[in-house]
Amino acid sequence: METERLQKVMANAGVASRRASEKLIIDGKVKVNGGIVKELGTKVSSEDVITVAGRSLEREQKVYYLFYKPRGVISAVSDDKGRKVVTDYFAEIPERVYPVGRLDYDTSGLLIMTNDGDLANKLMHPRYKIDKTYLAKVSGIPDNEALKKLRLGVKIDKYKAAPAKSKIVSSDQKKKKALVSLTIHEGRYHQVKKMLAAVGYPVEKLRRESYGFLTLQGLTSGDYRPLTREEIERLK
Ligand code: URA
Repeated sequence: METERLQKVMANAGVASRRASEKLIIDGKVKVNGGIVKELGTKVSSEDVITVAGRSLEREQKVYYLFYKPRGVISAVSDDKGRKVVTDYFAEIPERVYPVGRLDYDTSGLLIMTNDGDLANKLMHPRYKIDKTYLAKVSGIPDNEALKKLRLGVKIDKYKAAPAKSKIVSSDQKKKKALVSLTIHEGRYHQVKKMLAAVGYPVEKLRRESYGFLTLQGLTSGDYRPLTREEIERLK
């Protein structure tokens, strides 16, 4: 069973900061399964009953969802301009989830939503190089030269993007539009739009199709589903 340090569990539950939680422990205010615990290294699991100054700790269950973000929604928990945010779709669930990373306002597609800060931080860390595949509708039909540039690593702003897998999924010669699949593991601001613009094919519409082994299969825009146990374990 997964265990965590008592002060971390307290801080995550919103009791106090981690430092202040440590003081509460040292001061003998914290009980685990009925007994006072003063040891700071104490590890607890989700089964342990914790009380702080006689009040039981409300512990949020860790929850994990795969969300199909629609276009026209902000990847945040609130917006000062009152626009729709991704958490509006999760109003029914008691836990406070937030998005792992971001998709642009006008980008749709796969977003993981969770209240597990450790996993969110891990997934967003560049070290893990998680592949994300995007489907972009572009203006013009990219030639082999452009696709090759993307595969080798195109320069955008002041940096060179890592080599990306790229291919044309379909094209419309008359309208001069194409659907391009692009797989990247970095996550810089507007990265896909900038990469395709840099090779001469501006993005008109963008959707994230997959995140690592997770895909949008079975979902329509605005839907979400819980991740399975196995999926959560694979992400960890
Ligand atoms: N790249 C972009 O340009 N936009 C996104 O939303 C995600 C990746």
